[in-house]
Formats: sequence, C-alpha cells, structure tokens
Amino acid sequence: MIKICRYCGGKVICISTKAFYGRDYGAHVYKCTGCDAYVGTHKGTKNPLGTLANKELRELRKKAHEVFDPCWKDKHMQRKSAYRRLKEFMGTAREDTHIAMFDEDQCRRVIAGFKRFVLTGEGGST
Ligand SMILES: [Zn+2]
Repeated sequence: MIKICRYCGGKVICISTKAFYGRDYGAHVYKCTGCDAYVGTHKGTKNPLGTLANKELRELRKKAHEVFDPCWKDKHMQRKSAYRRLKEFMGTAREDTHIAMFDEDQCRRVIAGFKRFVLTGEGGST
C-alpha cells in the first residue's frame, strides 16, 4: 500500500485500471493526487509493482526494460537467470531486484552497462 507521494508528499489514491486508463486490465493504479506520479499493481491485487514513479522515472524504467527484457525474451537465457545477472550487476537484494523498484540512478546503470555485463561479465558490482 502506498499512501503518501515520495515526490510531492501528496495523498496517493488507489483506483482501478478501468478508471485510470479507461480500460480494465484487472489491476489497480496508485496515483498521486498532487502530481503525475503513479505505479500499477499486480493483476487481481492492490499490491504495487514497485515504487511510485514520475514521468522521468517511468521513461527510465521503460528504457531499462528495453535493455533487460531482450536478454530473456530472445531466449539467450531464462528469465530467472536474467534476474540473477541483474542482481549481480546491481548488487541489490533479490527482493529489490525489479526494475519497478529501481530509482533514476539504478535505471541509468542498467541502461548504460547491463548488456555489456551480460556479454562480458565486466562492470558488475560484485
Ligand atoms: Zn506527488
């Protein structure tokens, strides 16, 4: 549950994806009433996917996914292995190793160096 916005301190409300996107994805969205920050939830729950993100962070997370996802979607490795490599690269705890949890700097690190780390093993934090 998210109640207070980490950007502006405003009140955060939880609404259905239908109310937010105009389309029902069977999930919810935590949305700040004071700024444009939001984050979705896991399907069928009110459990947030990660931390609240403003526009800049949403863009960075999208770009980080564009670097990360092909590692397992193109079948170079299994999804689980890809997350293990990401954890090694970031030096984060397993439960915090999700792009939806990453902040701006962490996303920038993924974008800048994760692909090289997967290919060469260089640039990891361990
Ligand atoms: Zn806010």
